[in-house]
Order: sequence, then C-alpha cells, then structure tokens
Amino acid sequence: MTLIVQKYGGSSMGSIERIAHVARKVLAASQQQPTVVVVSAMQGETDRLLHLAKGLSERPNGRELDALLASGEQASSALLAIALNGLGAKARCYNGAQVPILTDNVHTKASIEEIPPENILNDLKAGYIVVVAGFQGVNEHGHVTTLGRGGSDTTAVALAGALKAKECQIYTDVAGVYTTDPRIVPQARLLSQITFEEMLEMASLGAKVLQIHSVELAGRYQVPLRVLSTFEEGAGTLIALEERLMKHSVVSGIAFNRDEARVSILGVADRPGMGAELLGSVSQLNIDVDMIVQNPSIAGTTDLTFTVHKNDYNTVMEVLQGKAQTLRAREVRGDARVAKISLVGAGMRSHPGVATQMFEVLGQEGINIQLVSTSEIKISVLVDEKYLELGVRALHAAFGLENEPNQEYLSR
Ligand code: ADP
Ligand code: ASP
Ligand code: MG
Repeated sequence: MTLIVQKYGGSSMGSIERIAHVARKVLAASQQQPTVVVVSAMQGETDRLLHLAKGLSERPNGRELDALLASGEQASSALLAIALNGLGAKARCYNGAQVPILTDNVHTKASIEEIPPENILNDLKAGYIVVVAGFQGVNEHGHVTTLGRGGSDTTAVALAGALKAKECQIYTDVAGVYTTDPRIVPQARLLSQITFEEMLEMASLGAKVLQIHSVELAGRYQVPLRVLSTFEEGAGTLIALEERLMKHSVVSGIAFNRDEARVSILGVADRPGMGAELLGSVSQLNIDVDMIVQNPSIAGTTDLTFTVHKNDYNTVMEVLQGKAQTLRAREVRGDARVAKISLVGAGMRSHPGVATQMFEVLGQEGINIQLVSTSEIKISVLVDEKYLELGVRALHAAFGLENEPNQEYLSR
C-alpha cells in the first residue's frame, strides 16, 4: 500500500478553526492516497500542563508527568478525527498505547523501539483516515511514556518507517527549513533541499524546526522527509536522503541555541584523569556536557571550561564548587547568559577558511568569542547572549545566505 504520513504541529492545531483547516487538508490528501496523520497538542498545551504539575511538585514523578503530558496530544487527535468525521470522512484516532508505539522505560525522554503496524494497516484498508496522537508511547509495563519536547516529529517519522510510507510530511508554521530561523532573520531563505547530515547538525545545534531524533530515524530507515507550511501552498524543503547533486553554498545554514550555560574550574592540578574526574562528577547526574575546552597548563595547573543546559547550571556550579575544595582548585566561574551560534555546511569539508571569516565578521561587530568547537561540517562559537541576534544577522549577510548560491558547490 502506498501511503503518506502527515504531521501537524502545535500551532497548526492551535484553535478550533485551525483544526478545521487541517481536517480539510487531510481530507484532500486522503482522496489521493491512504493517509496517516500525527498531531501535536494544541499550541501552549504542553507548557500549560507542565506548569500545572510544577505548581504541585518541584520534581514530579516521570510516570505521572508522562500520563499528564500525553493527554494534550490525545485531545488534539480526537478533535481532528471528530472534525474529519464531521466532513463526512471515515477517521479514527489512536493514542500511543492503542497503536501501539512501543518505547523504552525512560519517562519524559523515551525512545521508540517498535511499532507493530497491523492496527493502522487494517484501518487504512477499511478506508479510514488514521489520526495518531504524537509525542507518546507505551513501555513494557503498559505505562504511558513521552518522547521529549518536539517529539511528535519523531512519532511521524517512526510511523512512516514502520508503515513504509512514500513520504513523511511535517506541516508547521513556516514554509520549510530556512537558512536560519526566519523569526530572527527576515532575509532567511527557504531551502528547497538540505542534505540529511546538514539537517542533523542544524537540529542538534538548536534549529527546533525538527526534533533531532526524527532526523536520525529518517536517516536510519530511509524515510523521505519534507517540511512544509500548513497555511501556505508550496513544496517546502526536502531532506535529501542520498546526497544528490545540489547547488549549494559552502555554508548552508546558521543555527543557534540560547539554552546553554558556561562553567569553568580554574587553577586545577594538571594530571592525567583530572578531566575524567571533573566531567564524571557531572555526567553521574545525567547532565549532558556540550562544548569542552582545556587550556594548556601553566606551572602544573590548568583551566577546564565546558557548557551545560541552562536548567542544569545551578546544579553544576554546586558540584564544581565542591570539587574545587577537594581538589584545591583556585576558583569556579560561570555564566548562564551565553548563546551558541553555529555555521553548518557540507561544503566546509572542501573549503578551508570559514572559521577565519566567521571570527572576522564577529570581531567587526565587537562580539567576543568565548569558546569554539568544530566538526567536519560545522563551527560553533559561544558568545554573550545579548549579541545573539546581531551575530546571526551579521553572519547571515556576510556569508550571502539570503541569495541563491551562485557558486556551484556540488555536494558529492
Ligand atoms: P511545530 O509546532 O509545528 O512543531 P516548531 O515551533 O517546533 O513547530 O518549529 C517551527 C519553528 O522552528 C519555526 O516557527 C521557526 O521559528 C523555528 N526555526 C528555527 N530554525 C529554523 C530554520 N532554520 N528553518 C525554519 N524554522 C526554524
Ligand atoms: N506537544 C509536545 C511539545 O510541545 C510535542 C510536540 O509538539 O511535538 O513539545
Ligand atoms: Mg516542533
């Protein structure tokens, strides 16, 4: 059966009028081919539920929190099916456990393990439009789990993989993937295609248009993935599975992230195992570390700096202050008002000098670079949070991202 999976995000489902609009789009698609729809909760609903829980307990239990959060998607999926039935279509809603979307046991950050497709396939064969609540699944104990913020994208891709869909279409409130967030840089350009590995970097560096796990899964299961607008016509952006011949600039996009904080331990003894001891004390608490820099040692001591999520800043500062005492380090410093800006482009592999140009542009704007990290196809810098927008706009202009690439860089 040749079918498609469509996913509609929170803003697309944000009101009764919008749900009615989505229903008309879904109905039109289902007249072309069998259609499975994945929906997010109505815009703001997940935040509202989280806020309610936090009003009752500082650290709500994961199992109960998941039961609460999953209700947002359960409501919106039922509402969409009701709207479709109201238009005279046959539609059925499913929550994660009913599909079933089987996950591991990690509450609030679960991973999908398997999706037996029979229930959905049977309904499609019987002529139903199937509407699935995104962002949720069920674990081996029958408990509801959720997939992390933005997780409905991952539900859609996983379903598309399990059902061998022809395409997974992610409908959202912008026309596709842009060179950078169009809300920050109005000149941002819509990309007709982006390579899969560039999209992975963009997503992991903070472009929240797709949840990173959804991009990983799409790669693993070879799911053709497209991002497009719920509200405007257009072909959107295709995440190209094979690196096809594409017209490309060296830098294809700029991602940024306001969620990181910087911490440093200064004047700590420079001996083998020290880094492992310090970072180990943080990772023991399940806290992820992102950028890491260690200075060359002077007179036997060194400085170690790294970044963590802003939510973990206070905890990590406390841990390091404890360590500083036992290790007789000189000082612990930190700053939570930082932001990370990243240039992404598969063309960087074959074009040296991108970092130099990036540093020049930021220097000309008077923006100081605090930390740097690189990979083959990205360069990230940490800067003062107040320069984030200025930096992104200056880089977007300097690398000519608002113009169609004139130089033909062929991505393999
Ligand atoms: P949804 O509710 O549909 O899941 P999200 O808010 O999760 O939508 O993602 C869409 C948003 O992602 C856009 O409104 C835009 O502000 C943001 N965004 C960030 N970077 C980009 C980018 N490079 N291209 C497109 N959108 C981006
Ligand atoms: N409703 C969830 C969130 O706000 C999942 C999603 O929208 O994808 O994060
Ligand atoms: Mg999203």
